[in-house]
Amino acid sequence: SIVLGIESSCDETGAGLVRVPEPGGAPQLLGHELASSSDQHARFGGVVPEIASRAHLESMTHTVRSAFAKAGVQRSDVSAVAVTCGPGLAGALLVGVAAAKAYAAAWDVPLYGVNHLAGHVAADTLEHGPLPTPSLALLVSGGHTQLLRIGDLAGDITEIGTTIDDAAGEAYDKVARILGLGYPGGPVIDRLAGQGDPTAIAFPRGLTGPRDARYDFSFSGLKTAVARWVEARQRAGEPVPVEDVCASFQEAVVDVLTAKTVRAATDLGIGTVLVAGGVAANGRLRALAQQRCDAAGLLLRVPRPGLCTDNGAMIAAVGALVAASGAAPSSPLLSGDPGLPVSVVHAP
Ligand code: ATP
Ligand code: MG
Ligand code: FE
Repeated sequence: SIVLGIESSCDETGAGLVRVPEPGGAPQLLGHELASSSDQHARFGGVVPEIASRAHLESMTHTVRSAFAKAGVQRSDVSAVAVTCGPGLAGALLVGVAAAKAYAAAWDVPLYGVNHLAGHVAADTLEHGPLPTPSLALLVSGGHTQLLRIGDLAGDITEIGTTIDDAAGEAYDKVARILGLGYPGGPVIDRLAGQGDPTAIAFPRGLTGPRDARYDFSFSGLKTAVARWVEARQRAGEPVPVEDVCASFQEAVVDVLTAKTVRAATDLGIGTVLVAGGVAANGRLRALAQQRCDAAGLLLRVPRPGLCTDNGAMIAAVGALVAASGAAPSSPLLSGDPGLPVSVVHAP
């Protein structure tokens, strides 16, 4: 049986088709399609919710149609529809939920409202197979930065740490704005950092003092430090070495992320670490995570960059795992929940 997954929580409209696994197996990716309104937000330096919602409306049906064509399956092959019901932008979520309800009703198949963050984690199973349990996931995205204990991807996810202010992706986007690099900031900073010196500027590592024993993160002080450093340069009439700023900022982010993740895995006695979410596409984060996991004897899994950022396949993957677990479908009255906690993998 096959699940259609629909994603519309932010600025990407995604549709994906996956095959439901046997018990203990991993969902199989058949094909997916993506439409993005990212270009329309660039000049605002961040996602404009109204523009995102309208773009989802315009893209939804042809994105779904194209996913079917790419996967080479028929509508009649679909046994369930899964949709992101949170967290995300309220208006954007609503478009996907409404579309998913319409498809499920028209095709007379069950509907599963699923968690976007669980989707980021589940994306990895499409590439690397079943996730050993428990695993420790570092979820780093535009709106979230969390350490998650994954007991079971279909229903047992516990947050053990989170950012107390900005998310890692948000820090990338804000620093890109400070440097006039546009939106989204991650990919361009990732690229420019490769041409800079990561040791050029000693930016602060938030919440890494001897008394910060917990697994929380803080990136707002780092963003402010970058802004102050750039302003001081400009006031002095000196050029801003953009590549060095990018490299030094990025090093501060990935140093903290990887150090805390490895420490949490070691403390909790968990042998498998997964990095997921849009920031997991970052080249330096992937390299340093690999180096530090190797040194600590931990197995690292990171999905390919195209599955790290938002997509419909990851939502279909959670839907397939939830369906395979025998959980009841969501209510036909399902609605979007912008603040859905990560522990709620599928909505009742
Ligand atoms: P959330 O998943 O928390 O609801 P979101 O869906 O908007 O937020 P994602 O699509 O998972 O976030 O990730 C987008 C974020 O990832 C943006 O902040 C973007 O700058 C960042 N990002 C994308 N590619 C890279 C990269 N190569 N390096 C660093 N950051 C990146
Ligand atoms: Mg996006
Ligand atoms: Fe996301």
